[in-house]
Amino acid sequence: MSRQMEYDCIVIGAGVQGSFTAYQLAKKKKATLLLEQFLLPHTRGSSHGQTRIIRKAYEEDFYTHMMEECYQLWAQLEREAGVKLYRQTGLLVMGPENSQDYQMMKNTLQRNQVPTVILKRDEFSSHIPNVILSDGDAAFVDTTAGVLYADRALRTVQGQFQKLGGVIKDGQKVTDIKPGPVVTVSTSGGVYRAKSVVITAGPWANRLLSHTGLQLPLQVVRINVCYWKEKQPGLYNVKRRFPCFLHTGSKEARDHIYGLPSNEYPGLIKICYHNGSETDPDKRDRQTDRSDIDILRRYITHCFPGLEPEPAVVESCLYTLTPDRHFVLDCHPTHSNIVIGAGFSGHGFKFGPLIGKLLCELSQGEVPSYDLSPFRIRRFQAKMKSAL
Ligand SMILES: Cc1cc2nc3c(=O)[nH]c(=O)nc-3n(C[C@H](O)[C@H](O)[C@H](O)COP(=O)(O)OP(=O)(O)OC[C@H]3O[C@@H](n4cnc5c(N)ncnc54)[C@H](O)[C@@H]3O)c2cc1C
Repeated sequence: MSRQMEYDCIVIGAGVQGSFTAYQLAKKKKATLLLEQFLLPHTRGSSHGQTRIIRKAYEEDFYTHMMEECYQLWAQLEREAGVKLYRQTGLLVMGPENSQDYQMMKNTLQRNQVPTVILKRDEFSSHIPNVILSDGDAAFVDTTAGVLYADRALRTVQGQFQKLGGVIKDGQKVTDIKPGPVVTVSTSGGVYRAKSVVITAGPWANRLLSHTGLQLPLQVVRINVCYWKEKQPGLYNVKRRFPCFLHTGSKEARDHIYGLPSNEYPGLIKICYHNGSETDPDKRDRQTDRSDIDILRRYITHCFPGLEPEPAVVESCLYTLTPDRHFVLDCHPTHSNIVIGAGFSGHGFKFGPLIGKLLCELSQGEVPSYDLSPFRIRRFQAKMKSAL
């Protein structure tokens, strides 16, 4: 393809959101270029790792509604590519019975007729052995939930994009964006032009947006991804039907704690704290705060007696948080052919196929298939610094 070629769309950032956006554009027969700063695959953003949770359990109806289509789109990709990307395990939700978070999640599921099993305290341990339900806590299971095979999903969607004629250029860091009716994008390897651009740069979103005169109130935090060893192999194994879990608030922690059954590393279960310490995405390894691990250690001692309360493996990942923890899915306020997908706040993976569809619609000037008002940039008006 010549350097002079004008693409219909350039997508910047080949994480889960950019990869699905590029795939949706290619499905609509749009000439699409997907640019990535690192050589693929890489582990320096937010989309790497073996697993993510997929669930309908949310406090807000709009996420639960969106998940309905997400499950269908994940299944469609599985069929198209002939790979397995999802394993149903159910999601055990625990939390203080009278707390707002717990009640809202339970009510949203019930209101939307999502298959849910309420676990009574006296039957909890026969359903979920080796987990202690704290005093005052209640529990239910979102039976539709499960595990997504994250790395495999990324490989698959990028492969399907290429099969549809899409072009991926990795190892090309975008260094400049010149807005206009035709947008010019410069990288370490070339200069490209397109009718529209989608920025899905994860933790680097504000770096790229600075070329367009916009800054969003985003906070990048490092998450310590901890794996804990079973005292007896198999206690919390996916094959023995141990579910994913989410604790909406506990004595040990203000933010959620979540976990996935032992799967990717034999005998180790992934349990993480849903928050971390602020970092620069290029300097994440210098962020050595481990206070989240202390929280998890205390939590595991109390609630998971079958685990050794010391992490056996610690990896790292980044969240890009918005103040309200809702995503940014919108057109640039002054350049309508630049579209932004950012601030996925540690819960965006499961929505990848639908985010891709919505960002594709925005980039093509189409009416989006969902009400995007919770995700609009104008909600930050007071907090935004304009560099214009
Ligand atoms: C520990 C952890 C657990 C999580 N668990 C869940 C879960 O269970 N369920 C769930 O739904 N979600 C989960 N998430 C959230 C989910 O993984 C993220 O919301 C999602 O991966 C964000 O994807 P992204 O494409 O926006 O960002 P990224 O994956 O970071 O992708 C952005 C890409 O842009 C590239 N880029 C940046 N700047 C440039 C540039 N200048 N030039 C070219 N390329 C550039 C980056 O290199 C990167 O590849 C979790 C996240 C973490 C960290």
